[in-house]
Amino acid sequence: MPLLTDLLDALSGGQVEIVDLTAPLSADTPILQLPPPFANTIPFSLELISRYDADGPAWYWNNIHTGEHTGTHVDAPVHWASGKDKADVSQLPLGNMVAPAVVVDMSARAAENPDFLLSIEDVKEWEAANGSLPAGWLLLRTGWDERSTDAARFLNADETGPHTPGIAPECARWLAEDTPLLGLGVETVGTDAGAAHGFEPAFPCHHYFLGAGKMGLTQLRNLASLPPTGAVLVVSPLPIIGGSGSPARVYALVER
Ligand code: MN
Repeated sequence: MPLLTDLLDALSGGQVEIVDLTAPLSADTPILQLPPPFANTIPFSLELISRYDADGPAWYWNNIHTGEHTGTHVDAPVHWASGKDKADVSQLPLGNMVAPAVVVDMSARAAENPDFLLSIEDVKEWEAANGSLPAGWLLLRTGWDERSTDAARFLNADETGPHTPGIAPECARWLAEDTPLLGLGVETVGTDAGAAHGFEPAFPCHHYFLGAGKMGLTQLRNLASLPPTGAVLVVSPLPIIGGSGSPARVYALVER
């Protein structure tokens, strides 16, 4: 199988680099905070079973406590009401988990305006410079990963709610329904903008992408290390039967 041998040679020789896009998972990982009356997810935590002690003299292990939507994670279509009859996270086709990714870099505009929303015009402009969107991932770079170790700055909420960048409703509909994308990846706590509870429809990225049977991918980091086109994304959610999502290890293969 020379193709795979060539890939391994390129990896060991440095012609192809593996870029980790995954946030470390710990009790400090920022999580979504919904206002009342909605229920919230628990933070990630480890619960010790034994550590070379009376409960297990030669071994160390933990139970993990986590929500499905914690840290870098995949949203499956069934996560949203619009996708309720579609795939759960265990049913996502493995063939879609190794796919091309393009990076739309809006970090300069998000730095000026934390409520920045990607528009259809922005994507058309990106396509004019870089080519058509692939049957793969659109990764929206906003620079938000720089805030990911500080939950307050990452969630960026005030008395009017969270202020984080995202995608305008009409652009979310167009990307989900009229392009070959498999999914949308972001650096923020969810695929929608912080203010998206007030959009029409509410949470349009969730509504349109998951309703179209596509995926969401959140809390990515290191998108600055990817080229606008040409990266291959590897996404590895756990196959939780009936699950609405899963923490995932996500990395990109990039030619250097
Ligand atoms: Mn989610």
